Amino acid sequence: MPITVLDHPLAADLLTVLRNQDTAPPLFRTTAERLGYLLVAEAISDLSTEDVAITTPLEDSTGTRLQRPVVAVAVLRAGLGLLHSVLTLIPDAAVGFAGVQRNEETAEPMEYYTKFPELDSARVLILEPMLATGGSLSWAIDKVKENGARDITAVCVVAAPEGVAKMEEDHPDVRVVAAALDRELNPSFYIAPGLGDMGDRLFGTV
Ligand code: URA
Repeated sequence: MPITVLDHPLAADLLTVLRNQDTAPPLFRTTAERLGYLLVAEAISDLSTEDVAITTPLEDSTGTRLQRPVVAVAVLRAGLGLLHSVLTLIPDAAVGFAGVQRNEETAEPMEYYTKFPELDSARVLILEPMLATGGSLSWAIDKVKENGARDITAVCVVAAPEGVAKMEEDHPDVRVVAAALDRELNPSFYIAPGLGDMGDRLFGTV
């Protein structure tokens, strides 16, 4: 399972804002969205393209279009923090939702809602900002595969070594793009140093 960790000064700057415990939800949301642009651009950097004939104000020319449709699947709730980035960059992307809740004692994923568009021919971007144990992401990938997805990239903000190992074990065919690979999971299954609970920080819940 290939993992790409963004190596970009702007990504590092934005991630620092997200990590800072004093960053309140309004700035946290816009910063996550801005980092999302860099992550999504990397997640589709290998997407196939096709030539199209166009006419510029000066002459006939050849342009380039994305060949494959893109589907974003937001793993609820934190994945919503990256959804706007996908839809701004690729307005005709279709959107699916994977509702999974983490059992706080066992960290096992518990499904509560799924809804997917056509996945078979698409580049499917799974938006799962915190790759912690990897349980939720692995579960979401199982779901999209069951529904026909073949070309899958996971888009994460922070990954933990434990989550990366789980992905290597469960889904070696899925590429992971992240802004950082952090040190470890703590005993409560939070990523350290991490940024806390992504959903809470996006939406101001406690
Ligand atoms: N989910 C989060 O939001 N944060 C973590 O550190 C781990 C899982």
